[in-house]
Amino acid sequence: MYYIILDMEWNQALDRAHTVQQPVLLRGEIIQIGAVKADENFNFVDKLKINVAPKYYKKMNRHVEKITGITSEMLAQGESFPEAFERLREWCSPEFRFITWGFDDIAMLADNLELHGLDRSFGSDYVNLQLIYKNQIDNERVQWSLSDAVERLQIPMDAQAHDAMNDAWFTFEVCRKLDMKKGLAEYSGMSAGQRPVISREIFRNIPDIRRITTEQQFTEIPCPECGKVLSNGEWLSLGVVRKNNICSCPEHGEFLVKLVCKRAAADRWTLTRSLYKSDDDAKASYQKKLEKQHAAIEKRRAAKDAKEITNDNDSTV
Ligand SMILES: [Zn+2]
Repeated sequence: MYYIILDMEWNQALDRAHTVQQPVLLRGEIIQIGAVKADENFNFVDKLKINVAPKYYKKMNRHVEKITGITSEMLAQGESFPEAFERLREWCSPEFRFITWGFDDIAMLADNLELHGLDRSFGSDYVNLQLIYKNQIDNERVQWSLSDAVERLQIPMDAQAHDAMNDAWFTFEVCRKLDMKKGLAEYSGMSAGQRPVISREIFRNIPDIRRITTEQQFTEIPCPECGKVLSNGEWLSLGVVRKNNICSCPEHGEFLVKLVCKRAAADRWTLTRSLYKSDDDAKASYQKKLEKQHAAIEKRRAAKDAKEITNDNDSTV
C-alpha cells in the first residue's frame, strides 16, 4: 500500500453572487494537485503535479492569485478536472491512503468530484496529519499552518509555499520527522471527534479580531435548515484566533460553531466561520473547556486580588 501525501490549491468565486450553488455549494474549484507517493516506511516513491483548468471559476480570485502566484492565463493551460482526476486515480492505485495537512483538501476534493458527477467518497479514508502532529509535537494549540510545522521541525523552507507540489513535499517532510508507525496506529482513536462541516463562510479584511465574538455580522448565525438566527451560548476562547460556541435553533437543534482567524496581511485578518452538527461529544467537550475557561478567569482574578493585597501590605510596611 502507498501513502499519498496530497495538497491542492483552489480558486474561489470573485464574489458571493458568482458562487456556484448547484449541484454543490462550491467554495473552491481545484486548480492544482500536488502529491508525493511514499511506501509504508515513508520512503519516497514518486511525485505528481497536475495543473487543472477550472470550468466555473476561470478568472483568478485576486486573493488566491496573490498567495499562489497563479494567473488566469496560466489557469487556462491546465487539464480538465475529470482528466486530471483520472490521472491521479491511476497513479494512486491499486491501494493507497491519502495524507493531508488538515481536512480542507479532502472536503474540497469531494465537492469537486460531485461537481463533475464523480464519486465524492474517493479517498475519504484519509489521514489528517495535523492530528498526529498535535499528539507528538505540539499539543498546546488547536490549529497549525503547514509552515508552522515546517518551522517547528526545522525543515528547510527552500521552496515557495502555496504551490501544491511544494506543500505536498513539505507535508511529506513533516511525516518523515514524525513517528508515523505509532501515529497511524493511534490515528483512528484521535479522529473519532471529527464531524463533517455543514457550512463554511469566509469574512475577509478584518482589521481587528479582538471583538469578533461581539460583532453581529460574525455572531448572528442563520440556522442552516430554516435561516432563523440561532441563539448563541457563551463563546469559548481557544486563544485569540479561535472561538467556539454551541448555538441552537428551537426547531433544528444544536450546532457547533467555530470561528478561526488567520492573518492575511500585516493589518488584515480572514475569519472562517464553520458550522457543524453538534452531538453529545461536542457538547461535553465544549462544556468541559468552558469550565476550564471560567476557572482560569477566576484564578487570574484571585491572583490579581492577592497581588493587590500584597501591594497594600508593602505600602504599610
Ligand atoms: Zn432552524
